[in-house]
Amino acid sequence: MMKYISTRGQMAPIGFQDAVMTGLAPDGGLLLPESLPDVSDRLEAWSKLSYTELAFEVISLFATDIPAADLKKLIDDSYATFNHPEVAPSVQVGDFEILELFHGPTLAFKDVALQFLGNLFSYILEKRGGKLNILGATSGDTGSAAIHGVRGKPNINIFIMHPAGRTSPLQEKQMTSVLDANVFNLAVDGTFDDCQNIMKTTFGDVDFKTGHSLGSVNSVNWARVLAQTVYYFYSAFQTGAKSVQFSVPTGNFGDILAGYLAQQMGLPIGKLILATNENDILSRFFNTGVYGMADVVSTISPSMDIQVASNFERYLYFKVGQDAEKLVGLMNDFKEKGSLKVELNENGVVDDLFVAGKGDTAATLETIKRYKDEYGYVLDPHTAVGVLVAEKFQMEESPTICLATAHPAKFTQAIIDATGEAVHHPTLDALADAETRCDPIANDIDAVKQYLVGHI
Ligand SMILES: *Cc1c(COP(=O)(O)O)cnc(C)c1O
Repeated sequence: MMKYISTRGQMAPIGFQDAVMTGLAPDGGLLLPESLPDVSDRLEAWSKLSYTELAFEVISLFATDIPAADLKKLIDDSYATFNHPEVAPSVQVGDFEILELFHGPTLAFKDVALQFLGNLFSYILEKRGGKLNILGATSGDTGSAAIHGVRGKPNINIFIMHPAGRTSPLQEKQMTSVLDANVFNLAVDGTFDDCQNIMKTTFGDVDFKTGHSLGSVNSVNWARVLAQTVYYFYSAFQTGAKSVQFSVPTGNFGDILAGYLAQQMGLPIGKLILATNENDILSRFFNTGVYGMADVVSTISPSMDIQVASNFERYLYFKVGQDAEKLVGLMNDFKEKGSLKVELNENGVVDDLFVAGKGDTAATLETIKRYKDEYGYVLDPHTAVGVLVAEKFQMEESPTICLATAHPAKFTQAIIDATGEAVHHPTLDALADAETRCDPIANDIDAVKQYLVGHI
């Protein structure tokens, strides 16, 4: 039986289903399995499996309170919505393997986790009874992946706030064109920060939260990280190499954390290359040992415009030797001073497994153009950041797999700026004439609460 604990050490161990429904631990920490299984002696057998077969093998080690047949169906259903038979195929482009994680319904890698999480919520609610009302705030990508993860599911409603007129028209349509009765799009007369404030304040009202079964799908949910470990194994096997490196365009540290956990479980990974845009708190951390806040700047890779990475605490917990007390001390430093510091090792870095760098807007646009000119392959701006940072660290001995986190057609303007012409995708082209549903709402907590009560 796999149990889950909190990074802050103040929670009695719980099972997988409870961990999925809990999200954040009551002590403010993040959930992690009590111990990680060592899968080294299974890699050979696993390397012959299809994506969904492999997903079952990996996830079943952690979801021990779900019967095998049920879990298999959950996984099969989750990846049947992908429009590529391999789910997460790799293609060779220049010196790199590009791992395409954008074949899900919203054309971004978040679908890999959120299609699974949506089905998982639905399964658990069916078993246990009860309802879930998901409330979220989005500036774009996460909202649409979350909506597509739970659309049409019984016992679940989803309310996603976006800042009216401030989300890209395409991203807005990806959300508002979902007409299922359980999906509510709220265009808030304010900024993304206003949306987030409304969300935090509403969740902070514990009576309201429990009284209305409010939940969230944010990136700290353990099931999201878990679902993402699968493609590290899968893509490494596809290369046939003994060891690989991964380059990961990073924002909230959820994606690269999954790679770290795969490595800890025994997947031979030589280096994890952490790539950020101008919002570089994480690349600064791995190079200096100091994790220090800075202001968020807007870039052409908006899903990485993050300064406080919500999954970073999970890595830090391992870094301090799984010592909850030490971890709490560091998190308090960060809360009080806006920065925390860890010791560098004898090689002068935080962790020999990680290298880190950043790519700015000019370099990102240049990389998109260069790959199109040289290889006829169009990278989206997030993926391009990963590729350009990987170029700096490329080592000859082992293949480097660059995670492609979104389809370039989602980021039309950046692609036009880089190459002079747009890229198309039939899913997005079809949105042009799609019917939409969205309710405008005041930038006001009570207005949103009233809306929730009226629609639950
Ligand atoms: C969310 C996202 C990222 C960043 O992933 P994290 O898990 O937050 O580090 C990168 N690229 C795209 C396209 C994303 O949507």
